[in-house]
Amino acid sequence: MAYTRLDIDLTTGVSQKEALPDELICRYLGGRGLNARLIHDTLQKTHTDQVSAFDPANVIAMSCGLLTGTGAPSGARMHLNTISPLTDILGSSNIGGDAGTRLRSLGVFTVVITGQAEHPVWIHLHQDGADIHPAGHLWGLSTGETELALQKDLPGDSTVMSIGPAGENRCAFACIMSGNHHAAGRTGIGAVMGAKRIKAVVITGKKKLPKLDIAQKATVRVFTRKIMKAPLYPVFSKLSNSGFVIPIDEKGMLSTRNYSDITFEGAKKVDGSAMMKYVQKSVTCPKCPVHCKADIKISEGRYRGTTGARPDLEPIIALGPKCGLDDPEAVLYLHNLCNRLGLDVISAGSTAAFAMDLFNRG
Ligand code: SF4
Repeated sequence: MAYTRLDIDLTTGVSQKEALPDELICRYLGGRGLNARLIHDTLQKTHTDQVSAFDPANVIAMSCGLLTGTGAPSGARMHLNTISPLTDILGSSNIGGDAGTRLRSLGVFTVVITGQAEHPVWIHLHQDGADIHPAGHLWGLSTGETELALQKDLPGDSTVMSIGPAGENRCAFACIMSGNHHAAGRTGIGAVMGAKRIKAVVITGKKKLPKLDIAQKATVRVFTRKIMKAPLYPVFSKLSNSGFVIPIDEKGMLSTRNYSDITFEGAKKVDGSAMMKYVQKSVTCPKCPVHCKADIKISEGRYRGTTGARPDLEPIIALGPKCGLDDPEAVLYLHNLCNRLGLDVISAGSTAAFAMDLFNRG
C-alpha cells in the first residue's frame, strides 16, 4: 500500500500530495513518531532557530497509524503533534471518532499544515485534495455550532474537527473537538490551530477502508475476543474509566482540592457509576468493541437541558475532586461547557483548582 502525505501551506494557499518513503513508514509506523520526524524535517528546512508555538512557521502534523480504519479494535485513532504553546516543545494529542478512517479512505496517511492564513479559514480534505474556504462567519462560534453550520452544506460522509473561542483566543490549553465525544485535548493544539486562523478541518471520505482479506479478518477477531474477555471489559464497556474514582479514592490516590488531600468525601457522588442515571446511550469509535463513550442528558434541576458527553475519569477528577466539587450534574455541565468552548477539560479543571487554592490561601 502506498502511503501519502498531504502538505498544506496556509500562507500561499498551496496544497500538494507526495508519497511518503517506505523507510519512514517502516521506521515510525505512523502516528506520533512519523509526526515528530516530519515536524523536525519541516522546521529544519525552513528555520535554524527555535520556532515558538504561535509562529506561522510552526507545523501541525496529523497522522494515522498502520491500523487506523482497518477494523482493528480500538484502531480508529489519529495522532496530532505540533510545537505546544504550553511547553514550546513537541505537543502530542490523539483523537478518536471517524476522522482517521475518513482520512485514510482518501488515500492520505498524513497531513502537514504550515504557514498562517490571513483571515479565518476552514480546510476541506476530500477525494481530490484540499480546499481552503473563508471562515469569518464561523469565528466566535462554539465547536458544536461550528460543526452544525458546516455540516448543513457538506456531504453526509464528512467529519468536522473544529476549535471554539478558546482556540481562537490562543488559550494555551485549547483543544480540537470532533462531535461531542472526541477531542485532541492535550497540549494546546487548538491554540495553534487558532494562531494559524484555522477554524475547522473537515474530512469528507468513507467510514471504512477496503475489505480485509481472510487472514486479516481472523486476526481482528482474535484481538476483539481478547479485549472482550479481559477482566475489566464489563466495567470499561459500561462506564469507561469513569468508574475508577471510588477505587482511586479508596487507595488514597485522589488528587483532592489541588492536591491538598488524597481522599475526597464526595468521591461516590462523582464516580461514573453515579452518573449512569444521566446516560442516554453508549457511543463508540468505529469498530471498537469497548464503546466507552456515552451521551448524557440532565432533565431537571439547575442544569436541566444539559446534553453532550459523559466525561472520562481524568476530566471528572479535574473538575470534581481537584476543585472540591461533589455535584455530578455540575461536573457534567462544566465538562460539556469546556467542550463547546474548545477547552481541554483536564487542564481547565486543574487550572480552576489551582486558582481556588490560591484564593483560599489569600
Ligand atoms: S470507543 Fe473508547 S476505547 Fe474504543 S477507540 Fe474510542 S475512545 Fe478508545
